[in-house]
Amino acid sequence: MRKVIGITSSQENANEPSEFTSPKSYSKAIEHAGGLPILLPIIDENVELIEEMLEHVDGLLLTGGVDVDPLLFGEQPHRELGRIDPGRDYFELHLAKAAMKKGIPILGICRGCQILNVAAGGTIIQDIPEVLGKQNVIKHQQSAPRWYPTHTARLVEGTKLASIFGEKEISINSYHHQSVNQPAPGFVVSAQATDGVIEAIEFADHPFTIGVQWHPELMWYRCPIFSKLFDRFVASC
Ligand code: MN
Repeated sequence: MRKVIGITSSQENANEPSEFTSPKSYSKAIEHAGGLPILLPIIDENVELIEEMLEHVDGLLLTGGVDVDPLLFGEQPHRELGRIDPGRDYFELHLAKAAMKKGIPILGICRGCQILNVAAGGTIIQDIPEVLGKQNVIKHQQSAPRWYPTHTARLVEGTKLASIFGEKEISINSYHHQSVNQPAPGFVVSAQATDGVIEAIEFADHPFTIGVQWHPELMWYRCPIFSKLFDRFVASC
């Protein structure tokens, strides 16, 4: 039996959601890793239903998307905060919390990494250039083919992520203006860019609760090393 991996979706219009959307690249990556991808619609009011959803999946993939509402981690909105989607925040935060409670393996990508951190009690840098200072940071919004690695990340020795890749350093793509600030209790930093920006976190006491700030689902077919992340995710489910 293939392991069922629930993939979160996004909605174009948060006020009047007419359709849920999901880039094919996420389901393709899960399919390639031997999992059975299913798309999860956004449920924005019913906690019981969100928790019940998890009884049907073996793993949870939290996907990329808009910014997380900073009020949810105790901060006022920075002037460079982007679009937010309260319904999707509600859904994914409850989903992530419930999945962690049940011990379901989680892979968070980009926004998904941030949701994972906020769900567990961590905070987010709302705009990297503004908060850390333009002169102090590298380019995290690349203008290059989407699969192309534009900056390096140091993998923290002893972490699960480092063991998955078996490298000290990897080259990754970059499409974010936010990142993890304070990792949630129980989480450790598992990758950092040269400017100190956190590129991955993981929950120390679980075989696979990992968030990555880059987009491996856009890279694996050109840079095969990134298949290892999805392979290990599906295998741990
Ligand atoms: Mn980056």
